[in-house]
Amino acid sequence: MTASPTPFYGSDFDALAAFDPEISGVLLSELDRLRSGLQLIASENMSSPAVLTALGSTLSNKYAEGYPGRRYYGGCSEVDKAENLAIERCKSLFDAEHANVQAHSGASANQAVYGAFLKPGETILGMSLPMGGHLTHGTKVSFSGKWFNSVGYGVEKESENIDYAEVEALAKEHRPKVILAGGSAIPRLIDFEFFRNLADEIGAIFWVDAAHFIGLVAGKAIPSPVPYADVVTFTTHKVLRGPRSGALVCKAEHAAKLDKAVFPMMQGGPQMHTIAAKAVNFKECATPEYAAYARQVIENAQQLATSLGEKEIRPTTGGTDTHLSLHDLQGVQVTGAQAEERADAAGIVLNKNAIPFDPQKPNVASGIRVGSPSVTTQGMGTPEMVQIADLIHRAITQTDGDPDHPVAKDVRAEVTDLVGRFPAYPRPA
Ligand SMILES: *Cc1c(COP(=O)(O)O)cnc(C)c1O
Repeated sequence: MTASPTPFYGSDFDALAAFDPEISGVLLSELDRLRSGLQLIASENMSSPAVLTALGSTLSNKYAEGYPGRRYYGGCSEVDKAENLAIERCKSLFDAEHANVQAHSGASANQAVYGAFLKPGETILGMSLPMGGHLTHGTKVSFSGKWFNSVGYGVEKESENIDYAEVEALAKEHRPKVILAGGSAIPRLIDFEFFRNLADEIGAIFWVDAAHFIGLVAGKAIPSPVPYADVVTFTTHKVLRGPRSGALVCKAEHAAKLDKAVFPMMQGGPQMHTIAAKAVNFKECATPEYAAYARQVIENAQQLATSLGEKEIRPTTGGTDTHLSLHDLQGVQVTGAQAEERADAAGIVLNKNAIPFDPQKPNVASGIRVGSPSVTTQGMGTPEMVQIADLIHRAITQTDGDPDHPVAKDVRAEVTDLVGRFPAYPRPA
């Protein structure tokens, strides 16, 4: 490693460790946890040291309410450069007319869409949470369901894919101001053209929440919603592999409205260190290496879904086109909650998830959701997915949640071997 010519006052771990052994200890033990298990949570990934360096920088100090060139504070010359780079790279990555990179998270990007296009009490049509949607798409515990009239569509019983006939019928019955596509547990591609045509027919705004799959779009591995949607919101920390944050792209005609909705309607000062990290991430996503990564993410997810299916852990919709699959555990008579606990005790991190028409309560659930973004970042390929499916099967059908169960110990030993061959955040040689 070559030393920086000027001292860089960010990411100084030794100084932190000397001052605060408790928190520095947590940072180390979390890194150890990441390195020692298999991370299969579909909404997680491992961002690069470059992204983490920008996050740990002095840009965190700067107040910069407003937008580049039109700030409410002095001293913004340097952070303006960072935000302009983030905006330009985001627009070019997604071939978008306008980008706003200030949202603090996926949920706050979504708030901005409500703020821009809906008044309290007006109607939005989105996928319901138990069918694969997201909390911010109109559930009663969220601002979206408390302050707006939300109508939810689901999936067809047979195919377990979006029920497009129901979407159309509900749109024509309720005449929503906004129609929303996207969610947190949708393994298949979405027919954006269908939604665009329907929105045009009833004069609605078409919004895509691409939080989960935008990384696959960035890597050109699946079709983009950007040409079809009025606005596309997304997180930057899922498949995309950037900092924990959000952003949106939209048609030029909605730019002023959405910018005002992000700031000052919903947020205060932007997090300039995170915006710089988003700029780094967008640059990474434009490389051939990232495109190859995105394709491998899908190949791995498909292999994992197929191999689990061969062990009676049925993938809903019959498989996946993306980075995640949803599995019905009723065939092996295990609940989602049991599976999550048993896998965890064996060194495999995944989450329980409701499946369409789930007979169980959400906190028990009949399914699990598994995703390939993190293990693909670690360099694993399809042979490892076959092995991981076997490990998941053994952990959830042959153990009881006790880390000392002999089968849990065996599985953990294989996990240790696997992550030893494909380390997360490898130590410099
Ligand atoms: C993850 C997710 C969000 C929320 O993102 P946060 O950064 O956690 O606020 C919103 N919508 C969808 C579809 C998501 O999957």
